[in-house]
Amino acid sequence: MFWRTFSFLFLLIFGACVGEALLHDYKPWSGAFLGVLFITLMWYLWSLSRAYEVLHWIKDRPGESPPQHSGLWGQIAERVSRLSRAHDQALLGSEQRLNEFLQAIQVSPNGVILINARARIEWANQTAMSHLGIDIEKDRDQLIGYLVRDPQYVAYMNSLSYDHEVVIEGFKSQINAPKRISLQLFHYGDGRKLMLTRDVTDFEKAELMRSDFVANVSHEIRTPLTVLAGFVETMQNLPLTPEEQARYLGFMQQQSSRMQILVQDLLTLSRLEGSPMPSYTDWHSVENLCNNCEVEARGLMAILKSDSGLEHRLLFSIEPQSQDFKVSGERAELQSAMSNLISNAIRYTPTGGEVRVESRMCADGSWFFAVHDSGPGISPEHLPRLTERFYRVDRSRSRETGGTGLGLAIVKHVVQRHGAELKIESTLGQGSTFSWQFPKARTRLALLEEKLTDNAVSAS
Ligand code: ADP
Repeated sequence: MFWRTFSFLFLLIFGACVGEALLHDYKPWSGAFLGVLFITLMWYLWSLSRAYEVLHWIKDRPGESPPQHSGLWGQIAERVSRLSRAHDQALLGSEQRLNEFLQAIQVSPNGVILINARARIEWANQTAMSHLGIDIEKDRDQLIGYLVRDPQYVAYMNSLSYDHEVVIEGFKSQINAPKRISLQLFHYGDGRKLMLTRDVTDFEKAELMRSDFVANVSHEIRTPLTVLAGFVETMQNLPLTPEEQARYLGFMQQQSSRMQILVQDLLTLSRLEGSPMPSYTDWHSVENLCNNCEVEARGLMAILKSDSGLEHRLLFSIEPQSQDFKVSGERAELQSAMSNLISNAIRYTPTGGEVRVESRMCADGSWFFAVHDSGPGISPEHLPRLTERFYRVDRSRSRETGGTGLGLAIVKHVVQRHGAELKIESTLGQGSTFSWQFPKARTRLALLEEKLTDNAVSAS
């Protein structure tokens, strides 16, 4: 600053001296005056040009580096440049944060839609778009009521009371594959709204299953209980002969054991759902498991033998027939799943029919187990629902033979827990096949492996 003032004064004196030297003869002091005037004008024009240059840079080229001037204008340009860079950086930072925030909302499992004060869509994440069939590129600034036309939503929107959710049909919802979306509005800002959407299809399905399950259990228990209460009342009120009493007690025992089996199956199911994966360290001989099944099956066949003495034909085809072919898992679960399929095949196949149990080790080391029967078969519409709890094709036949409607649900759980799937194939009038294939990780053929190793050692 000092040097600026000093230079200016020096130039003024210099101008005055030069002017006076040139014009002294013409009129004293007039040259000095003109010299000072001339220098002041030049200084002013010079300053103006620099100021203009800086102004032009601020207005039109703020991104470029500032004009490199010494002096006041140079300092102003430098300071403006620094402020502008700090401002740009702050802007970039907040833009980045906004993007990160939007990306986080994008991956949210819940849908988010921002609606402005004119009820038009401003922004929506992917989830909301898939829930309601919105395409934000096309539908930005579109009225939300124009895109979501479900009467439930329209009534909700008009009610202006958004303290609860409303459930509507989702985008691409079909009768056989319904999609249910819950949505709720929240006020924010100046008349704006935030809409949150959630896929509640599975939740509603589970809720329905739960209430169906409770209704089914109550019904299944109430039926034998009513019969039992009836017999108790009869025995209390009627004078019965000892033979009649014995017969009635037999009926009562039948009903109570039916309830016992039902409770047993329910407990098994709940235990299966809550317990950890079966271990890979407990090995059980497949041949042994099959032999146990055969003993049980022959017992059942004897009970179901027709009056004329006609029995089922029961065939076991087990490969390899060796105690060394083993499978890992929960022995009790495996035994019950195998027995369940065989007992179903016997119960639903009329006497004289054939039941064939097949167990073999496949080339890839997996274990294939199947129960084939020549029974009535099951029509295709029932097949996907057979493993649902209490689902029966023929309710009376199931009851007659002591079924609870939970057998296949238990088998399915057991098989899945051991890493396989229960497969059901059936042709109406020709019979059914229930099968599974356990992965190689769950099988072991100890003797064969030992022999192979021995051979390899002796060959080398
Ligand atoms: P249940 O205790 O009634 O036998 P399951 O869950 O074991 O219950 O079987 C469900 C339904 O599947 C049965 O009620 C029956 O209608 C049908 N089903 C099962 N196995 C067979 C089969 N081998 N042949 C024909 N129908 C079968």
